[in-house]
Amino acid sequence: MRRVYLDYAATTPIRPEVWSAMEPYLREIYGNPSSLHSFGRESRVAIEEAREKIAKAIGAKNDEIIFTSGGTEGNNMVLKGVAFALQDKGKHIITTPIEHHAVLEPCHFLEKLGFEITYLPVDKTGLVDPDDLKRAIRKDTILISIMHANNEIGTIEPIKELSNIAKEREVYFHTDAVQTVGHIPVDVKDLNVDFLSISAHKFYGPKGVGALYIRKGTKVYPLLHGGEQEGRRRAGTENVAGIVGMGKALELAISELDREMERLTKLRDYFIREVERRIPDSYLNGHRIQRLPNNINFSFAYIEGEALLLNLDMEGIGVSTGSACSSSSLEPSHVLSAIGVPIELVHGSLRFTLGLWTTKEDLDYTLDALERIVNKLRAISPYKQGWTLKREG
Ligand SMILES: *Cc1c(COP(=O)(O)O)cnc(C)c1O
Repeated sequence: MRRVYLDYAATTPIRPEVWSAMEPYLREIYGNPSSLHSFGRESRVAIEEAREKIAKAIGAKNDEIIFTSGGTEGNNMVLKGVAFALQDKGKHIITTPIEHHAVLEPCHFLEKLGFEITYLPVDKTGLVDPDDLKRAIRKDTILISIMHANNEIGTIEPIKELSNIAKEREVYFHTDAVQTVGHIPVDVKDLNVDFLSISAHKFYGPKGVGALYIRKGTKVYPLLHGGEQEGRRRAGTENVAGIVGMGKALELAISELDREMERLTKLRDYFIREVERRIPDSYLNGHRIQRLPNNINFSFAYIEGEALLLNLDMEGIGVSTGSACSSSSLEPSHVLSAIGVPIELVHGSLRFTLGLWTTKEDLDYTLDALERIVNKLRAISPYKQGWTLKREG
């Protein structure tokens, strides 16, 4: 049976070139990068070469990059590390309700410790209005954290405009760029941010490794104490092979960025057009234009996302849903709820995310299966009769 992976926003496979770059560091080069002998130096050199690649890819200086275990750690470090470092200045943080859980959960934790969090409103496409940010900043605001692009609906936020407002008021600005680095242009100077989180497994690198950009001179406490690594900002023996793999993966992604963006945008728009043409009562979630090239998110009226997902899975197609009871979460999508999608349509949502190995044939195979399954499920749907949709736009 044909297998079609359309869940690249959840994770990506390691590309062969990345695997080749990593392999020596899983076999013969094993020195501890902190050791002073030649064994250690070999690992140290590899780490510093990778640091240079990451820095160059996002317009940072080498010493502004620290290695982490991924996007979750980077986000946690910024939220908690800034909160602890600046709590004498203020205890107010601004974010949005559509952030990844790796930002929202640290915020909830900080609320329990007495910090106050403002969740900015977003419009029905998921965009933050810069005027709302202007109004929300207070004297005691210490940090603003707004994602570069949303992992569920693909909406790309106007980070430059938002961070410029933060700069005027001298408030630190963090962006979770896990969905954008390696996918669309990302430059920390252009975006004018103080912190930026990166994760390797979202751009064909290995899982369990990431990077955090920290602008020079920015105050933040470490999460992990216990060693001198990463300028004392992140203790623990480095994941040498993972770091090497991430450097290689990002270097490759950047070299192919324009071509791949163009290819995926065409495939994305083809898929969206075909769904809208072939499947009635299907609604695109997110922004039509300000959108990641690889993201498609639809709600299908009258049916459950889980049923759709499982039926597609039986045909070898891997997608994800914002509906509840999906294997990864118990709550329906907080993102779709925050942009005002009616709860019935949240439950009928599916996310298709494309990547390096996605072809038009894959999409045609998926469209045929999707159309057939939607029709089948709707024919037996108890909601189909007299179900009214309260949805504008
Ligand atoms: C995947 C993802 C994360 C988490 O990154 P990990 O490396 O898996 O911890 C954080 N934010 C966004 C937007 C993501 O898509």
